[in-house]
Amino acid sequence: MINQNLIKELQDVVEPGDLIAEIVRRFGNRAAIGTSGQLTGVAMIDMAFRAGVKPRVFTIDTLRLFPETYELFEKLEKKYDISIEKIQPDSKKLKAMIKEHGEYLFFDSKEKQELCCHLRKVEPNEKVLGTLDVWITGLRADQSSHRAKTPKFQIIEQGQDKRPLLKVAPLIDWKEKDLRDYLAKYQVPIHSLLAWNQDGWYYESLGCILCTTPIGPYESRRAGRWRWFNNEEDNKECGLHS
Ligand code: SF4
Repeated sequence: MINQNLIKELQDVVEPGDLIAEIVRRFGNRAAIGTSGQLTGVAMIDMAFRAGVKPRVFTIDTLRLFPETYELFEKLEKKYDISIEKIQPDSKKLKAMIKEHGEYLFFDSKEKQELCCHLRKVEPNEKVLGTLDVWITGLRADQSSHRAKTPKFQIIEQGQDKRPLLKVAPLIDWKEKDLRDYLAKYQVPIHSLLAWNQDGWYYESLGCILCTTPIGPYESRRAGRWRWFNNEEDNKECGLHS
């Protein structure tokens, strides 16, 4: 049952791995880790494994991901003996969108970027959320001002019938250094682009190939996403976590 009592019970589980394991034991395949291959996602898979459970894992495959992202998923599947579900956009809707607005519509305006993200990310995400009671995400408070407001446990409404769904961010309070230390300690495979650094430029987060660039030493953490909108408001979300 997804309600505030459940949150109270889960709040007592402090360690992220134990928390994920507790959720998987209670909800089985009705709980899943959603990851785009970022540091938190791979850490949570490893933590679950160390806590003795094999969680359901999914990713939203926009069909525009970096080749290195697919390589990472293969490595994770091999190491943890899991199968990562790759949820793709509806092909008919995709064709219609491209026919009407062109392949590279996201360069044209914020509205068209949001339209593309909606079709390639939000709708497939909605589809998988329809099969879940608990959505385990890798959001961290230090990623952006928007994410700083994200609670660790949140009951959201899912689907047209507004079914309650528990959204959990086990690593919400983790800082990047702690995360990297953890990943190095346990030799967790990480995205090769997240290990790349040239003259202080590095990838902070990874989305679709054309919409993601590295950030410089003094830029905000989401500056590399949809860089051509950097003079607009701090609105660098694709809609998955709105
Ligand atoms: S990140 Fe870019 S290519 Fe990917 S869904 Fe959003 S607008 Fe489309």
